[in-house]
Amino acid sequence: MNNAQIRPAPIAPVQRTLPGGAGLAIWRGFRGRCPACGEGRLFRAFLKVNDVCPDCGEEMHHHRADDFPAYLVIAITGHILVPIVLSVETHLAPPIVLSMALWPSLALAMALTLLQPVKGAVVAVQWFGGMHGFEVSKKARQTATVG
Ligand SMILES: [Zn+2]
Repeated sequence: MNNAQIRPAPIAPVQRTLPGGAGLAIWRGFRGRCPACGEGRLFRAFLKVNDVCPDCGEEMHHHRADDFPAYLVIAITGHILVPIVLSVETHLAPPIVLSMALWPSLALAMALTLLQPVKGAVVAVQWFGGMHGFEVSKKARQTATVG
């Protein structure tokens, strides 16, 4: 039994609304949707990307997000949280116990909230740009658009 027999085929191919620009593709990925059709779920688990879109059949197993979403989440969380921490600690000077409980909890909550949307956006950027194995899909989209 090979992988083609294991992987379920889409029940009925849906008419895809391909994104005209990178912004829409990234927004679809950020929302956890397939960047190609905007309908199928991009993730099968918290950070596990579906191999194939369940709605349109677009192959997603090519993505190579690796650690980049985590780096972005750290940068975003730090840029939002550090000014707030500095402002609160400077002006209000809360008890140290409160600071030790609040800031790490807030940083963890922000990171966990942002991780999946940022990974979806990174996968969408790779899909839209035809990176890694997505170049075949990108050429097919360009051919369909021109022809
Ligand atoms: Zn799709």
